[in-house]
Amino acid sequence: MKNTKNTIPRFIFHLSDPCSEKYRGIELNGEIIHWIEDTDRFVGIFGFTPDMRDAGISPEEFIRNEYINNRNFDFTACMQTQIIEYLRVHSKNFMHKHGSLCEKWLADLARMRERSHAVCTACKITPFCID
Ligand SMILES: [Zn+2]
Repeated sequence: MKNTKNTIPRFIFHLSDPCSEKYRGIELNGEIIHWIEDTDRFVGIFGFTPDMRDAGISPEEFIRNEYINNRNFDFTACMQTQIIEYLRVHSKNFMHKHGSLCEKWLADLARMRERSHAVCTACKITPFCID
């Protein structure tokens, strides 16, 4: 079978190191395209709650353990979809630069998620992964 080229972008966010010059940035292809204003609200979209913070868990630790280092499931499509949805609402810059491709990216990611549907039964990402 022919390999189709993966054209879905990979967004990275920087929240773990407050001393980093990229701290609070969402990056695409080496460029910061958005600065996160409210970090609590941002980590909330991944299912992080104030209760967890009260229990001494940091958002970075939660996201790393829950999604990135999770060996049972690949949450890439869930996380990337959620970041795009966030940017659609919160970033004029993102919409200006990439708005026209949003729907295509979301559709591509939705297909990736369908193939690994079992993932979302274990996924804390809201609103679409948890019904
Ligand atoms: Zn999911």
